[in-house]
Amino acid sequence: ALEVRLASRPAGWPTTDNFEIAEAPVPEPGPGQILVRNKAMSVDPYMRGRMSAAKSYVAPFEIGKPLDGGAVGEVVSSNSDDFSTGQQVLHALGWREYAAVDASQATTVADDLPSSAFLGVLGMPGMTAYVGLMDKARFQQGDTVFVSGAAGAVGSLVGQLAKLNGAERVIGSAGSAEKVRLLTERFGFDAAFNYKDAPVGEQLREAAPNGIDVYFDNVGGDHLEAAIGTMNDFGRIAACGAISQYNATEAQPGPRNMFQFVTKRLSMQGFIVNDNGHLKREFFEHVAPLVREGRLIHEETFVDGLRNAPEAFLGVLRGDNTGKMIVNV
Ligand code: NDP
Repeated sequence: ALEVRLASRPAGWPTTDNFEIAEAPVPEPGPGQILVRNKAMSVDPYMRGRMSAAKSYVAPFEIGKPLDGGAVGEVVSSNSDDFSTGQQVLHALGWREYAAVDASQATTVADDLPSSAFLGVLGMPGMTAYVGLMDKARFQQGDTVFVSGAAGAVGSLVGQLAKLNGAERVIGSAGSAEKVRLLTERFGFDAAFNYKDAPVGEQLREAAPNGIDVYFDNVGGDHLEAAIGTMNDFGRIAACGAISQYNATEAQPGPRNMFQFVTKRLSMQGFIVNDNGHLKREFFEHVAPLVREGRLIHEETFVDGLRNAPEAFLGVLRGDNTGKMIVNV
């Protein structure tokens, strides 16, 4: 069975040389474990952090060992009373064809929805969008919301959730003309711009003549500075990610307008989605019906074959994906 291992740690932008595709025996599930044949797996920006040795909120990947991450697959044998063969489960041992998973680390997924949805809109990225917007940025009806990385997995859901919950105006930024078109024509954003076309501050001011009340930050850097500059009094920022800096080899300049936190009485809350299990049920009850009724659009970009997983991951960092990037194992 194939698995993808970390071959070396990248300095700056990773390449496929940092990964090794290896053949390993199909694992024997131990007591209380299930054997899962993975069908779909997630590649996410946070995995770039785990390729580095630096201490963070989640342990680094180990050189010579398979990587891991969210995956959905079918139970092919079970040493647990809680699971039987043929069930679809969500678990955390992606990057391999077969995984021996502790039953306590697996959950069954509803079979009336595509399994990839549990890696995206109904999974970690969907929960991130919901928690960041509703809880951390304390979204209120009538807010004008700006989200960066708006055509990606998290961003596309933030914009739509804001609209569905009564935002006055939703603005998104993304990195291509095609993505910008999608934001307004498919995801229902009121305005969108390509951050590569002109300075973010200029484009944001034009898109938000009355300022913004909420900024959902996926990108950091000049996007954050622009958002602070455009915020209305008592504006709120959810600090979700800073993908513009994940491959940086030295510290990047910070926003130069931090004093506006004082003058405008702004607040900014960083968060890690995994700390928010208490909101999981609320998230699911809010979002699952929207998905079932087709009111929340969830784009996915698929890459076929575990051998292409490293390339799919690099693609997320480059912006090859629209919506959630999924690898069909
Ligand atoms: P996406 O699906 O949004 O994919 C990443 C996107 O980032 C790319 O498609 C690309 O789109 C964009 N991007 C890449 N480089 C840059 C750049 N220099 N400037 C601006 N945009 C760039 O990924 P996710 O939705 O999974 O994640 C979005 C963000 O949320 C990330 O920062 C991630 O780390 C963070 N996150 C945080 C979590 C938390 O718990 N705090 C949980 C999950 C995600 P484009 O073509 O538009 O450039």
